[in-house]
Amino acid sequence: MALDYHALLNPSQAAAVLQTEGPCMIIAGAGSGKTRVLTYRIAHLLEQGVDPFNILALTFTNKAAKEMRARIEKVVGPNAKNLWMGTFHSVFAKILRTEAERIGFPRSFTIYDTQDSKTLIGQIVKELELDDKLYKASTVLGRISAAKNKLVSVQQYVNDPVIRQDDEAALRPKIGVIYQQYQQRCFKAGAMDFDDLLFQTNVLFRDHPDILNKYQNKFRFVMVDEYQDTNYSQYLITRKLAAKERNICVVGDDAQSIYAFRGADISNILNFEKDYPELNVFKLEQNYRSTKNIVWAANSVIKNNQEQLRKNVFSDNEDGNLIELIKASSDNEEGKLIAQSIYEDKMNQHLSYDSFAILYRTNAQSRAMEEALRKLNIRYKIVGGLSFYQRKEIKDLVAYLRLTVNPNDEQALRRVINYPKRGIGDTTISKLINAAEEANHTIWEVVSNADQFLPARVANPVVGFAEKIKSYTIIAGKEDAFEAAKFIAKNSGMIEELYADKSIEGLSRYENIQELLNGIKEYTDDPEREDKSLGAFLQDIALVTDSDLKDAAQEGEAVTLMTIHSAKGLEFRNVYIVGMEENLFPSQMMITSRADLEEERRLFYVAITRAEKKLTLSYATSRYQWGNLRSCEKSRFLDEIDPQYLNVKFAAGPAVGESPFQHVFERRSNLVAAPVRKVTPTKYVAPADFKPSDTSNLQAGQRVEHPKFGFGQVTTLEKQQGTVKAIIQFEEVGEKTLLLSFAKLRVL
Ligand code: ATP
Ligand code: MG
Repeated sequence: MALDYHALLNPSQAAAVLQTEGPCMIIAGAGSGKTRVLTYRIAHLLEQGVDPFNILALTFTNKAAKEMRARIEKVVGPNAKNLWMGTFHSVFAKILRTEAERIGFPRSFTIYDTQDSKTLIGQIVKELELDDKLYKASTVLGRISAAKNKLVSVQQYVNDPVIRQDDEAALRPKIGVIYQQYQQRCFKAGAMDFDDLLFQTNVLFRDHPDILNKYQNKFRFVMVDEYQDTNYSQYLITRKLAAKERNICVVGDDAQSIYAFRGADISNILNFEKDYPELNVFKLEQNYRSTKNIVWAANSVIKNNQEQLRKNVFSDNEDGNLIELIKASSDNEEGKLIAQSIYEDKMNQHLSYDSFAILYRTNAQSRAMEEALRKLNIRYKIVGGLSFYQRKEIKDLVAYLRLTVNPNDEQALRRVINYPKRGIGDTTISKLINAAEEANHTIWEVVSNADQFLPARVANPVVGFAEKIKSYTIIAGKEDAFEAAKFIAKNSGMIEELYADKSIEGLSRYENIQELLNGIKEYTDDPEREDKSLGAFLQDIALVTDSDLKDAAQEGEAVTLMTIHSAKGLEFRNVYIVGMEENLFPSQMMITSRADLEEERRLFYVAITRAEKKLTLSYATSRYQWGNLRSCEKSRFLDEIDPQYLNVKFAAGPAVGESPFQHVFERRSNLVAAPVRKVTPTKYVAPADFKPSDTSNLQAGQRVEHPKFGFGQVTTLEKQQGTVKAIIQFEEVGEKTLLLSFAKLRVL
């Protein structure tokens, strides 16, 4: 039975759905139903009898494709399975596999990820005897990638005087040579990198008209979501594919273009009008997603951008709540207040945790949020990224810390023995492992006596590494966890290595290390913490990583945490945008020009417009940076929101204190209105003959005595992979969570 599009859609949306023939463009505001139009358009085509194999829909993420397919399936049934739907990269990788031989690649070509590409570039730089600090793999790859996205071939690259001048001015005249070798090596290895997937598709279509013809006939209907974020290479592919039937429909929003730094080009929208003079343009202005207040606030922000197609986005939904602005005194407190607000809203309004999202500008910000959520037992999932402690750079530094505390830790040793690079090759490592096995030694024993097992030349860097670790162990014995970790991060060369990498990913890795150190500083600054050693800290995060894994593995309702970039196109009932501070958002690195600032502002616009009912913004007036507490200024973007839409809340203010759930928080985590790092006065004095008891049979409900916290009652015991955590309600200091094996409790 045909769908009644006029009941499901407004007149402009329905017109865009029913206009299936000819080129069509919908450039419209956030939440105005662009994706909904694409979805129903496909459903409509299928209902009209178009074969699903003839429809190609390109989305920005695979997740978006999956969701769209599921929605279409609901309308038209299993036929939807056969649609060609996915990201540019996934769809064209599939086509390239079928046609690879025509451009000289094996069908089974490998796809190099960014790390593979960087490693290869690093090798080439070494072979060419170039300075690897100047020719950093990520910098060179960035340059090659930008060239490929503009379809600049090796030939063109080396012959173009403008490019040569640019490279010479940047003191990197050899990038052309590296590009050449890199392409040759990829080709020989039967490999393509991410950019090649698009580049080679263009080559395939350009040099093989019969193949282009085949796909032009196949994809009679082409559709692209988030068109504002396509790059030139993607633009050309779609233009070529649609050249014959001219049934192409693109949807996007110039105000949400947030990938210029990766080569996305807004002029693709303007080109589109030139390419298809017979174009049907549809305007959608009604936002169906958000309350009026949210839409008004978003409009008041984006109007500060000069470069934009003017739109009048409005909402017919209720006015809704004002936008809440939370001012916290530290990032930790920011996390606590957000976690608390989520818990309250869930309880008060009977919501599922799925209704909530926390959005941030940089990945590193997830740490404080993750910790606060965990303290309230709120389940969460990190989308499009890894949980903080699962990230490579964090694992690397943690491996150094583990090795410092326990040099026999083989996994940690293997992880960092040659990171940062210190000339210990894979063969040397295998030799060390073999020697250890033969002599029945641990690897560390062999490593620290490498000169007895290996020739001097090879042994030297290994001995140097062992000396480093030994010196770390000595420092960790004298200093607290923070001082030791800071020293190790610097001395190991990790900081220098990450600092030198100026790519977006490199920057984010550098920030993550900084954030880990901040976390350790907070750990050692806690006046109630007895053991501030590196060993104790590692014990603490071992628990964190375990429960992280559990969180990620389990299905079920959970709060979503992600960067704003990965939130594009999505919607949530309640949205929190955290870290609204100068230098964080707008990001310090991104505001060297007006164009950059406008891109940051578009990012803020994207973030605001994810919210359906409730939007909360927050900032902290201080944040740890490299272990120092720095004061922060609130973001200029906050001043751009018309104040009539804002409701300013301060931490520790009455609004928080009046919470009907206050008792829950007080019991769970001393969280309400607590000034940061408050020292709790303790009157209790432990008796001189205090002796801890055997706690292996400890039960919830039992009364205990602690040498520092005094008398209390065990409320919960949580067993986790061999360790037991006890949550104890102490009479004087409130609730504490203690590791039983360390806690020195006397059972009364
Ligand atoms: P974005 O710019 O964020 O990608 P969008 O323009 O793609 O947004 P959609 O995600 O398609 O917007 O729609 C936003 C929300 O409004 C969705 O929940 C969608 O189902 C709903 N919606 C859109 N149009 C209508 C309509 N005519 N009637 C009811 N709900 C609608
Ligand atoms: Mg959309």
